[in-house]
Amino acid sequence: MTSSIIDSIIKARYLREGESSFEDICRRVAKAMGKDEKEISDFYEEMASFRFLPNSPTLMNAGTKLGQLSACFTLYVGDSIEEIFDAVKWGALIHKTGGGTGYNFSNIRPEGESVCSTEGVASGPISFMKVFNAATDVIKQGGRRRGANMGILNVWHPDILKFIESKKNEGDISNFNISVMVNDEFMRLVEAGEFDRTWIKHSDTGEEITVGSVWNGIIDGIWANGEPGVLFYDEINRKNMTPNLGLIDTTNPCGEQPLFHFESCVLGSLNLSKFLIEGKLDKTALERSTRLAVRFLDEIIDKNVYPIPQIEEATKKTRKIGLGLMGVHDALLILGIPYDSLEGRKFCEDTMEFVNKIGIDESHRLSEEKSEFPALKGSAWEDYAVRNAAVTTIAPTGTISILADCSSGIEPVFSYAYTRKDTVQKTFEILHPIFERELDKVVKSVAKNASESEELKREAIDTVHKTGSVQGIKWLPDDFKRIFKTALDIDWRSHVLMQAAFQKHVHASISKTINMPNSATKKDIESVLLLAWHEKLKGLTIYRTGSRQSVVLELSSDS
Ligand code: ADP
Repeated sequence: MTSSIIDSIIKARYLREGESSFEDICRRVAKAMGKDEKEISDFYEEMASFRFLPNSPTLMNAGTKLGQLSACFTLYVGDSIEEIFDAVKWGALIHKTGGGTGYNFSNIRPEGESVCSTEGVASGPISFMKVFNAATDVIKQGGRRRGANMGILNVWHPDILKFIESKKNEGDISNFNISVMVNDEFMRLVEAGEFDRTWIKHSDTGEEITVGSVWNGIIDGIWANGEPGVLFYDEINRKNMTPNLGLIDTTNPCGEQPLFHFESCVLGSLNLSKFLIEGKLDKTALERSTRLAVRFLDEIIDKNVYPIPQIEEATKKTRKIGLGLMGVHDALLILGIPYDSLEGRKFCEDTMEFVNKIGIDESHRLSEEKSEFPALKGSAWEDYAVRNAAVTTIAPTGTISILADCSSGIEPVFSYAYTRKDTVQKTFEILHPIFERELDKVVKSVAKNASESEELKREAIDTVHKTGSVQGIKWLPDDFKRIFKTALDIDWRSHVLMQAAFQKHVHASISKTINMPNSATKKDIESVLLLAWHEKLKGLTIYRTGSRQSVVLELSSDS
């Protein structure tokens, strides 16, 4: 990535008074988190070398008066006007500090049901979502970014069809991602083809909704513009590490953190591309950084400034942290392993298992040094005490991966050459550094002289700008093309299986988009959802290329 776009992001979002560089930010954050000189210097090194970065709110607010350091929050929404507008207020307080909020609106009675106090009829969850959306519009987070929300409705809520259609027109409820929380019972009926069976009956109007109408609504919505996302309620709760505290029905905006109402979670990601030596994973370095990252994130729970007391209480009860990976595809590119291969999935699964195991071990050590998380009794950790009820996650790393100049989260690279607009709409040309390096080697071996090699390089880059892919370039060797596939070159099955490989060793969930070509059919989308359920994903987002007009990443404008 060009340093100018990174500089412009740093300036627009992270620099505080008196700071002028990324190193200044690292110094402030390390000083706020480290317990002594040694730890401050270790934390500084981890961040300044881009081996580890915490989520944006930590980079923005650590060591400042604001002091709110978490990216992820979920809130409780009740069925009374007081409770609904309390949640609007709490959401606003969270957005102000840079956090994102998730809500499950299923407690709100369906549209058309009677309201005792006014003898009127209820307006239903979707109308209230519009209030949350409008509130988000007017609050710019600490002046730095607009808030993000997740809106969830359980598949058994009578307004489910209206919910699924609530984002049908692009631009509607635009500050929300929406997801349907489906359960195994529903998925089993779908799989058995019981589409005509009544699924829900509206208690007041008597309206009957069939399994097929809900399922087709979900599929149509995804096909049309990528929403709703789907969350798997039973899988989330089978893997709930603290069932003693109840059931989980909500996630944060990008879905990687299923949380109890009022819980928050601070995220941080290790940049896997920085942990390779001589064509192998440097496990010694990765172990060291994992242990430091766990300490760093755990420390935040005590140093954090919480927006409301309920959040402080719920967060300190479980002390969940969200350590994840980014730069995963970059690491595979360096190692020469295709993303969409058994070998690629095996490498990722083993690596995540290692990080998870070390992370748990460090959390165990912390429990002995300090104390275990308060809700340990009755949790999955009763026999092996830890300080954090959940340790691992996979965040989108939308901004921090740009700072670290690596591929985001576990996503495959979107394009090896593209343009990107910064916060003030200035356009930058980006060329993937590993791609450029390997392309240089290839053109040198194919070309007869320096000028031909320049020509071939230009041709390859132009083709990527136009089509997004190197797959159609005839003179490129097959093994190069096999490795340098993009998110769109990779088939949906491999996307799902990669997410499943990680999920085996991740406590929370995973933020991932299953990319599909524009030609994908509704039947294909159905197959993705069924595979995802069978592969024990906790949730997913599907995006069919070109189905939305506005996308963040673009191929060059002449494409
Ligand atoms: P970053 O790279 O900036 O640290 P991520 O892209 O990894 O952030 O997102 C992590 C989480 O941060 C999201 O799931 C969401 O909860 C929260 N988040 C992301 N973007 C926003 C935003 N614009 N407003 C509020 N919260 C956000």
